[in-house]
Amino acid sequence: MKFLAVIGNPIMHSKSPRMHNNAIKFLGLKGIYTRYCLNNDLFLKEELLKIGFDAVNITVPFKEKACKIADFKDEISTRVGSANTLCFKNNKIYAYNTDGIGFLQSIEEFKDIKKALILGAGGTALAIAYVLKQRGVDVYIANRSSKRLQYFNAYKNSLYKDLQDFNFDLIINSTSAGLMDEYLPCSKEILHQLLSNAKFAFEVIYNKETPFYKLCKKYDLRVKNGFEMLLWQGVFAFELFFDLKNQREEIKTAMLQALNLD
Ligand code: NDP
Repeated sequence: MKFLAVIGNPIMHSKSPRMHNNAIKFLGLKGIYTRYCLNNDLFLKEELLKIGFDAVNITVPFKEKACKIADFKDEISTRVGSANTLCFKNNKIYAYNTDGIGFLQSIEEFKDIKKALILGAGGTALAIAYVLKQRGVDVYIANRSSKRLQYFNAYKNSLYKDLQDFNFDLIINSTSAGLMDEYLPCSKEILHQLLSNAKFAFEVIYNKETPFYKLCKKYDLRVKNGFEMLLWQGVFAFELFFDLKNQREEIKTAMLQALNLD
């Protein structure tokens, strides 16, 4: 019997318990997946080991700390310094980041992407930038403030106001602008120049039509939101939880069914 959870703050809104529990049921596995709200990450390692989880998903704002407490890390969490999946074996913590591969899987149908611009410079941007670069895509980052751009020295990066290149195949909004408010990530004028030239756009937020998503729909390009990214990061985490190899389609079907219950 696996004891699983998603850890974050806030956590009530999380769809992960529903996704994972339906996959457990659908595949006839033994396990239970709950949610756990943590006030702070001071004793993250001790708390997680004490509670006795077999594995957990980690969400905002603990992904960086989750990576730090791990004894072993997969390549992407090592490179980007954040993890959304932890497995506990023999008192050791194994960290994984399935956000990046979840993003890649969700843009499978976006073909011939040579150059991409990521708006925002947070943890999600780091994961997306890393996997795109691994795929041979020329990756640029733009942000409203300079502090977090220091983590993107491996990429061309600038403030929005200093952007000089507006020719990208794919524009990704990885900011949380529009999540709890009605803001665009940057000015409409800059977005107009970017979206007029782009073939594809991606909004990481999945639970509402953000101003960025709405604006993209006015242009002649394909736009997707973060729904499939959420789905796929869950599928890949589930494979890790139960050490599964050939049941990706079944897991996806079960998680999709759970997500579509809304
Ligand atoms: P972070 O807090 O690490 O980074 C947030 C980024 O957004 C920063 O670059 C910040 O800029 C920018 N930002 C925030 N508010 C605004 C605003 N009003 N205008 C312009 N820029 C803004 O967040 P994460 O990277 O962890 O997450 C970002 C989003 O990705 C969240 O909405 C999250 O829900 C979503 N997400 C979706 C997933 C999915 O499966 N679909 C998976 C993971 C995340 P600055 O540096 O200047 O503060």
